[in-house]
Amino acid sequence: MHALTELQSHQPHAVPVLAAALRGQRLHHAYLFTSRDLGSARNVMQSFAASLVCVERRDVDACGTCVACRKLAEGNHPDVAKLVPNEKGMIPIDAVREVTARLGLKASEAPTKVVIVERAERMNEAAQNALLKTLEEPAGPTCFLIATSRVKALAITIRSRCQRVRLATRAESTAVSELRAALPDLDQRLARIAAALASGDTEAARTTLDNGLSELDQRLSEATHDGSMRGALAAAADLGSEREKADLALALIEIAVRDGLAKAHGAGDTHMLGEPPAVPSRRLAKAAAVLTELRGMQNLYVNRTLALESVLLALRGDVGGKAS
Ligand SMILES: [Zn+2]
Repeated sequence: MHALTELQSHQPHAVPVLAAALRGQRLHHAYLFTSRDLGSARNVMQSFAASLVCVERRDVDACGTCVACRKLAEGNHPDVAKLVPNEKGMIPIDAVREVTARLGLKASEAPTKVVIVERAERMNEAAQNALLKTLEEPAGPTCFLIATSRVKALAITIRSRCQRVRLATRAESTAVSELRAALPDLDQRLARIAAALASGDTEAARTTLDNGLSELDQRLSEATHDGSMRGALAAAADLGSEREKADLALALIEIAVRDGLAKAHGAGDTHMLGEPPAVPSRRLAKAAAVLTELRGMQNLYVNRTLALESVLLALRGDVGGKAS
């Protein structure tokens, strides 16, 4: 098992968030780790759980050798419960209830109990409701570490109670390191965005950067925040005239909107890829609605200029040509 800080290079976003919570004693009672890569989520949850129960923690890292760490590593720490899919690939309600009942017992060794849920999307509605009950009213200090690759498969009531932490896939973090090694001046945020857009393919990420990702990002930021509405419309017309640029612009906007909404919904400084835009959440929500609508039209002919226009105006609060 890795100590939490050893995961820093692979999870440059998640580890500082968790470390800050441990240092400041400001633990959220539930974390939702989103990742397409179960291995990454498992590593982070295991290391974080160890930091939570270790009795000889060094700063934020579990010592790895105390009684608590050894029990955790062997999978028999009395205060750590794990929910994983059964042989049918589901996490049944009975398993959730069993863990809930266990949580009702007093914490015997650690200051907090820990519940790890792997592949939370494998809970049906009833199982999710059972989990929700203990999320709402845990019996004593409990920290829930929930991982999913399909966040939308979880009830909104569960999602809204968790601090969301996006994990980089292995491929993405490798791509970020490779990009930063090749391009020392490259901004960390853009490196992460490029790697995510390219699903961790370093070559493809490099091409996206060479094709002017940074300029595009800058231009969108101006169109959203600083410039005039006329400037925003001009940007939409210009970017919309080139299919590739327009699609990349929409992808960038989508990332910004997602990050912004995550932050607005109490994710603290847990943004996903970059610094979320300073846009009021109702505008973000409007932009998200526009993006969803556009995605619904993806099989039809979509006028890219119009698509960019509507989402930029939503972000600016200029819906209908009037500031709102
Ligand atoms: Zn320890």
